[in-house]
Amino acid sequence: MLILVINSGSSSLKYQVRRMDPDSAGTAGEVPAAGIRSEVLADGSIEEIGEREVGDHGQALDAMVEQLEAGLGRVEFDAVGHRVVHGGTHFDCHQLIDDDVLRTIDELAALAPLHNPPNAEGIRAAGRKWPGLPQVAVFDTVFHRTLPEHAWRYALPAELQERHGLRRFGFHGSSFEYVTREAARLLGTPLEKFDAVIAHVGNGASATAISGGRSVDTSMGFTPLEGLVMGTRPGDLDPGLLLYLQQQGYGADRLQELLNRDSGLKGLAGSNDMRSIVKAAGEGDSRADMALAVASYRLAKYIGAYHVACGGADALVFTAGIGEHSAEFRRRTVDRLDMLGVRLDADANAAAEDPQEPCTISAAESVIPVLVVPTEEEQIIAEATAAVVTSR
Ligand code: ADP
Repeated sequence: MLILVINSGSSSLKYQVRRMDPDSAGTAGEVPAAGIRSEVLADGSIEEIGEREVGDHGQALDAMVEQLEAGLGRVEFDAVGHRVVHGGTHFDCHQLIDDDVLRTIDELAALAPLHNPPNAEGIRAAGRKWPGLPQVAVFDTVFHRTLPEHAWRYALPAELQERHGLRRFGFHGSSFEYVTREAARLLGTPLEKFDAVIAHVGNGASATAISGGRSVDTSMGFTPLEGLVMGTRPGDLDPGLLLYLQQQGYGADRLQELLNRDSGLKGLAGSNDMRSIVKAAGEGDSRADMALAVASYRLAKYIGAYHVACGGADALVFTAGIGEHSAEFRRRTVDRLDMLGVRLDADANAAAEDPQEPCTISAAESVIPVLVVPTEEEQIIAEATAAVVTSR
């Protein structure tokens, strides 16, 4: 099967074309017993949707097809798999897209205003371009549907939660699913026996506690705002602080902007690019140093907490842009775990600046291994798409 994987964002459309063996596809919404690598035929990105290069998601798809055909010649896809960030309470598994599914994705935009609208735009554009071609929505939230109630419930009036569908959902599910599988494989542990803490630290960031290969707690909640310090989002805040700002005249739109675009590393250091933050901190910039300290401290606290959540982790795993590439951020985080007996090998950590394969960066005496696993959300999206399409 030839599958086009689309990750449609507000300013870019990332794509991959993968050839999948249908027999190797996992069951949609479940963790397959073993990952089977599909072949990547093309991998690219169309930038600046809505700005200069392309006007909208339809034009972005046209540009993508042009790029693809220049490299591969004429291509006929069997299905399109879309990353969709928020599946709310509606979707326990990945979905073949029809009008109802698309309408629900639109409705969930209120909970993920930066993500679901461009995801839906990508789906619409692909539907216009290839009418009749099966399209599958692969939700970030599905991997976390295994959270126990004590982890997903907020301590709010039960009736209010019921009425508004308030609960913790969790995100980055395809990344956590892939990284869990790869880390278990690297360590030779059967997936159903694998307990770990995984830190997905990119521009968006979340940590997940894995028990028996499944998600049992995760740091993002009802929306992708809760938890870790991110590129432009603050993560955990006292809700009273938001009430206070409201009383000071901050309306919903201004708070939305503040919480999604102006906070996190950018708010602290003036930039959300980890490379320049680490460089500036090394040159004595105190704001950059403080941003690194706040973000790595928050993550270390979550790792301690999630060690409890998963009943004792077998491994700590870093992934995504910062987790895979920033030795300094990993060092600052793991230095705080010394009392748990978790230690890095300084040379192995420094060497893992752009790992192509999963690798171990912990010291020999560390009580658990610390790994870096390059994430591949597209692999999970392609597998889930193949599984949904073949089980129709
Ligand atoms: P997104 O959540 O947008 O997918 P990514 O996973 O691509 O984000 O991560 C983006 C982050 O990774 C940025 O902060 C970027 O500075 C950081 N990053 C990328 N490459 C490096 C590197 N070589 N060293 C340090 N940080 C890096």
